[in-house]
Amino acid sequence: IRILAYESSCDETSTAVVKNGREVESLIVATQIKSHQRFGGVVPEVASRHHIEVISQITKEALDEAKVGWKDIDAIAVTYGPGLVGALLIGVSAAKAASMATGIPLIGVDHIMGHIMAAQLKDEIEYPALALQVSGGHTEIVLLKDPIHFEIIGDIRDDAAGEAYDKIGRVMGVKYPAGKTVDNWAHKGKDTFHFPRAMMEDNDYDFSFSGLKSAFINTCHHADQIHKKLNKYDLAASFQASVIDVLAHKTIRAIKQYRPKTFIMGGGVAANHGLRERMSKEIARLPKSIQPKVILPDIKLCGDNAAMIGAAAYNLYNAGKFSDLTLNADPSLELPYADSMLK
Ligand code: ATP
Ligand code: MG
Ligand code: FE
Repeated sequence: IRILAYESSCDETSTAVVKNGREVESLIVATQIKSHQRFGGVVPEVASRHHIEVISQITKEALDEAKVGWKDIDAIAVTYGPGLVGALLIGVSAAKAASMATGIPLIGVDHIMGHIMAAQLKDEIEYPALALQVSGGHTEIVLLKDPIHFEIIGDIRDDAAGEAYDKIGRVMGVKYPAGKTVDNWAHKGKDTFHFPRAMMEDNDYDFSFSGLKSAFINTCHHADQIHKKLNKYDLAASFQASVIDVLAHKTIRAIKQYRPKTFIMGGGVAANHGLRERMSKEIARLPKSIQPKVILPDIKLCGDNAAMIGAAAYNLYNAGKFSDLTLNADPSLELPYADSMLK
């Protein structure tokens, strides 16, 4: 089964050809980061315009790079939510047009299901699985009963992890998106500020990072007022230590309770070196009898890309979950997968 996939939910326009949900035959990512950087974040109208400029061209590129034609494609997959509505609509319209013109079946995919399934491109997921989904707009612990039935057991109450990285990065003068640079700086510093670890000892699996963000910003403002210069590496290390402590603590507790066969990380923040090392280390320390297999997706497949959408679409294909031409963008689409949207 060969799937052509589209992703355009935010500031990356991407197409890919994925074979059997596991093998990336081609992947094109047209990033718009430079256009948004001067505004310090994604400008929705600018995003839509960029998507529409490149989408036809990168459809052709994905097919060419995979050395296939339309006749070799079994399904056309597209992210239909969550994300920016104008951005999503470009991908959805392109996929629907291609499906209508070729008669190839259409599959609408949840963007977050896609992030989680990036792991499937690395190794076989055994179920039940548990995912730590950390991205620009989401921070969740998700149980996967099988490849298409998900349940969120922990969620973010305010700023998602990636959003928090971007906001504190901005205070330190780091260009959007700041996560990668803050991660690099963190490795050169020490946790000297001891920022709060919100909700760490609470009995649920929810997260909150806005208190941490405020503590960080207050520390910087206070230092400014008394003309004291703070060490940026220690600031980054302290922020990152707080984020990772909370994420790791709650995820390990969830693994002990739910005993998944596989542990997965997904989303842009899953590229974080500190978080990857910490999770691998803590899982290796669990008793052998409850140790899940760990799948950390390739760094380049953590951020938004169409290959992960192709992987998730393969699972929907096998379950017969196709969409029709009434498929519409749903900016606030939520896991578990909305079956009502599917035929
Ligand atoms: P969502 O997927 O929740 O809808 P999104 O698509 O905007 O949101 P992604 O593209 O998955 O989010 O991830 C982007 C986020 O990941 C940004 O906030 C970015 O700063 C963050 N990020 C990228 N690399 C790292 C890293 N190494 N450490 C921490 N954060 C990172
Ligand atoms: Mg992005
Ligand atoms: Fe994303």
